[in-house]
Amino acid sequence: MPKPTTPRTATTRWKKLRTRLIHTRPHTCHHCGRTLNPNAKRGEAGAIELDHLEPFSRRPDLAHDPANLVLSCQPCNLTKSGKAYGDPIHAPTHTLPLPTSQDW
Ligand SMILES: [Zn+2]
Repeated sequence: MPKPTTPRTATTRWKKLRTRLIHTRPHTCHHCGRTLNPNAKRGEAGAIELDHLEPFSRRPDLAHDPANLVLSCQPCNLTKSGKAYGDPIHAPTHTLPLPTSQDW
């Protein structure tokens, strides 16, 4: 069952912005590169969510700024919730040794 729409995303302004961004941007998740499905409903696999790079909780003034909005899959948007782009969630979880560090 889909989550109820929050008042912030129920406004005509938000819906028009969402529609415009979905129609003008590539249908891939900004964070993981997953292909998104513009026909999927909220909660379905591949559903498109709009993610605020600077979270709404920190920068409500950028809530409708297209430069602050990216297309995201739901798992990435939920994982990132409240974190700004560049916060630790996006840092590499491991590093590979350089090839030159091996003994030959
Ligand atoms: Zn993603």
